[in-house]
Amino acid sequence: MTENFTRSFTQQEAIPEAAIEAALRVMRSGRLHRYNLVGDELGEVSLLEQEFAAQTGAKYCLAVASGGYAMGAALRALQVQPGEPVLTNAFTLAPVPGAVSAAGAKPEFVNVTEDLVIDLEHMSQRIEETGARLLMLSHMRGHICDMDALMAICDAAGVRVIEDCAHTMGADWKGTPSGRFGAIGCYSTQTYKHINSGEGGLIITDDAELAARMVLLSGSYMLYERHAAAPPKEVFERLRLDVPNVSGRMDHLRAAILRPQLANLPRQATRWNERYRAVEDGLKGANGLALIRRRDGEGFVASSFQFRLPGWSADAVRDFLARCAERGVELKWFGHDAPMGFTSRYVHWAYADPADLPETDAILDGLIDMRLPLTFSLEDCAQIARIIREEAGR
Ligand SMILES: *Cc1c(COP(=O)(O)O)cnc(C)c1O
Repeated sequence: MTENFTRSFTQQEAIPEAAIEAALRVMRSGRLHRYNLVGDELGEVSLLEQEFAAQTGAKYCLAVASGGYAMGAALRALQVQPGEPVLTNAFTLAPVPGAVSAAGAKPEFVNVTEDLVIDLEHMSQRIEETGARLLMLSHMRGHICDMDALMAICDAAGVRVIEDCAHTMGADWKGTPSGRFGAIGCYSTQTYKHINSGEGGLIITDDAELAARMVLLSGSYMLYERHAAAPPKEVFERLRLDVPNVSGRMDHLRAAILRPQLANLPRQATRWNERYRAVEDGLKGANGLALIRRRDGEGFVASSFQFRLPGWSADAVRDFLARCAERGVELKWFGHDAPMGFTSRYVHWAYADPADLPETDAILDGLIDMRLPLTFSLEDCAQIARIIREEAGR
C-alpha cells in the first residue's frame, strides 16, 4: 500500500496563550503606537528590544515593520550611495536584493556552494571586481558559512557586513549568535520565520551611531529618548536633522505577541532540529539524492529542509515533484524558469541586471526545499522522508 501525507506544510502553531493575553492587554489599553506611553512605562516595543538585545548580547536593538525594512534601514544607516555595488548571495529570498535596490544601490551576486553557503573564494574575487564596501550576507535557509573566515576576508578588505538573519534567529556560529559578526544584524518576525507576529523585524548593532541613525530612520518623531535599547541622546543630537524619517516602526500589539515567543525560542529551536534530524535520518543513503552538509561550529535552527538532486534533468525533477505532491508532500524547487510563490532565483531579479553564475545555476537546478512547521510530529517527518525516498528511487 502506498502511504500518503495529509497535513499542511504551511500550518503554524497557535500563538501562545501568554502572548494572546498580552495582546488583549494592549488592545484594551488602546495605546498601540510605540510612543503612546504613560509616565515612565517602557511599553511592549522597548521591552522586546531590551530582551532581544540581552538574548543576542548586542548593545542596541530596534524593532521595525518587517525584515525587508530592517535591511533597508541597515543599508541607509551605512550610507549606501546611489548605484553603489552591494554584494549578496545569489541564493537568497527576493526581499534581499529588493532591499538593496530600494536603497538605490546595485545588488552584485556571489556564488553559493553545494553546502548552500556563500562561496568565500568567489566573494573575495567579487570584492576586487566590484570594489564593493558592503556585503549583505544572507544566511539563507539557516545555512551558516565559516563566519571566522568570512569576517577575516571582509575586515581585511574594509567591507562592512550586514547579516540577514531571517532564518537564523536563535542560531550561532561557534557559540556567537548569528547577527553578531557583522556591523548590523537583521531579523524577520514574519509568520514563516522563527517567531511570528504576522509581519515584523528586529535589528541589532553595537555601533551607537548606526543604531541612532536607524531609530531616526524608523520614524522616531524626535521621541528617541523613549527607546530603552538605544544609545544616549547625545548621539541623536548630532544626527537628528540629517536623517530622514522613513516610517517603519513596530507597534505594541506585535511586540506583545513576540515577547513570550522570544522567551521560548531555545525550546522551539530544539524541536525544529529534532524534526530536521528525523527527515535527515530518513533520507540518509537515498538513491539519487544528496543531503546538505552542515559545518562543525554551526549551531543552526532548522525551520526548513533542503536536499539536492544532482545531475537530474528538469523533466525528471518535475516528475518527482508531481509524484511527491500527489502523495501530499509539498516540495519547492529553485530550478523553475519563472518565480513560483516565495521561491525565486537570482536570474529572476531582472531589475538587478544579474550576470550569469553557472556554478550557482548548477546547484539551484537540482535544489529542493521544504518547510518544517512545528505542527509536524517526528512521525510525520519520518513519513515525509519515506515518501521522498521512494519517489526519488523510482
Ligand atoms: C523573509 C526573509 C526576509 C525578509 O523578511 P520580511 O519580514 O518578509 O520582509 C529576508 N531574508 C530572507 C532570507 C527571508 O527569508
